[in-house]
Amino acid sequence: MTESQYARTAQNSADVVVVGAGPAGLVLGNILLRNGIDCVVLERADSVQIRNRARAGFLAANTVRILERNGLDEGLRRRGQEHSVCEFRTEDGRFRLDYRRLGRGEVHTVHPQHELVADLLGHFLEAGGRVEFRTEAVAVCDADGPAPSVTVREQDGRPGRWRARYVAACDGRHGAGRRSLPPGAVRRHRRDHGVSWLGLLAEAPPSLDAVGYALHPRGFAGHMARSSDITRYYLQCERGTRPDAWSEERIWDELALRMRTAEYGPLLPGRVVQRTVVDLRSDVLEPLRHGSLFLVGDAAGLISPSAAKGANLAVLEAEILAHALTDALARRDPGPLDRYSERCLDHIWRAQEFSHWMIRLLHAAPGPEEAGHFRERLRRSRLVSLRDSRTHQDWFAENYAGI
Ligand code: FAD
Repeated sequence: MTESQYARTAQNSADVVVVGAGPAGLVLGNILLRNGIDCVVLERADSVQIRNRARAGFLAANTVRILERNGLDEGLRRRGQEHSVCEFRTEDGRFRLDYRRLGRGEVHTVHPQHELVADLLGHFLEAGGRVEFRTEAVAVCDADGPAPSVTVREQDGRPGRWRARYVAACDGRHGAGRRSLPPGAVRRHRRDHGVSWLGLLAEAPPSLDAVGYALHPRGFAGHMARSSDITRYYLQCERGTRPDAWSEERIWDELALRMRTAEYGPLLPGRVVQRTVVDLRSDVLEPLRHGSLFLVGDAAGLISPSAAKGANLAVLEAEILAHALTDALARRDPGPLDRYSERCLDHIWRAQEFSHWMIRLLHAAPGPEEAGHFRERLRRSRLVSLRDSRTHQDWFAENYAGI
């Protein structure tokens, strides 16, 4: 489709066009709507798909506070479960940290991301919010001029265009927001951590009353409760592994081995209902703005799931942007918008640093053998320090449950 063909299509408009109805887009849309700002959310998927896409589950204390102060916490209050213990299992034994008693005393709330998205969507629609489902943003145009717009492919495949004063790209790392940035407009910092995880969702009750991090010569294994009958597991795997490459039997055998069930008790088995391979990679775009286009959530930066920060950063950035857009549109004060990028990047880099630290804590370091042995001993020493040093535990707790 050429520019002139889009120019001849039907046009809609909103002061803020939000692309993507994930946690970022829906928190942003809800706060804008509450503040009386004209906005629309464009979403490629349909509402059933977005309500069923299981991903994150651990909400930081600050995320809960944001949802609370914006009146978006009803579902979370009803179904969320407080969680504050993690357990490390290693060749040197196991130890637990109850982070409610450490650092700032903050805890996580376990609330699966698809339930959060369903809650946020319900609030938005009930409050009269507009969501255009099955509408795929193709490109953000003229973001550096006075009349930006978003070209779209509508439900029936026809092209369309939404005019806006501001566009918020909340459409993840492969979305139209990132794609539309002209070369050189932003800098992209990237890091491939060289590690991959087979992420599994099992119809199985949690086997531990803690997040389990198992460090084993065969690789990392993780256990994270999602609800009373659903548990997420992770198994470190070779780069390039296909999600269906491991049989269920092999998965449960490998989990049992790495989580040392012979010493610490069995895992409660269940059917594996979702598999995905996650290559642990991070990137951060800087700045998070190009003219009137703003990047939010995974579109702004991708963070490996090792420290469960992605959805939490998305919610934080969405709240910051919502207030900045309100100041710009309702109070003619563009100052907060000018500071959006800098404010978010402070949080993003701190989360990246902690996430990177977690990756180095949980995985044997790849690399030449001699250097690998050295780094391996450093990793074990880091764990001993985490086990024994209250100062180290306080630092861990503050970063683990905070954002
Ligand atoms: P998304 O949730 O990706 O939403 C983007 C939306 O945009 C989607 O609905 C998509 O359909 C839509 N979209 C995309 N392109 C277009 C387009 N061109 N036009 C219109 N719509 C479009 N984070 C945590 O904090 N804690 C965890 O425990 C955790 N665990 C995770 C486990 C896994 C297996 C994975 C994959 C991720 C995990 N994360 C976790 C990360 C977290 O899920 C993401 O960081 C979070 O979803 C980011 O929210 P978002 O709104 O920015 O993007």
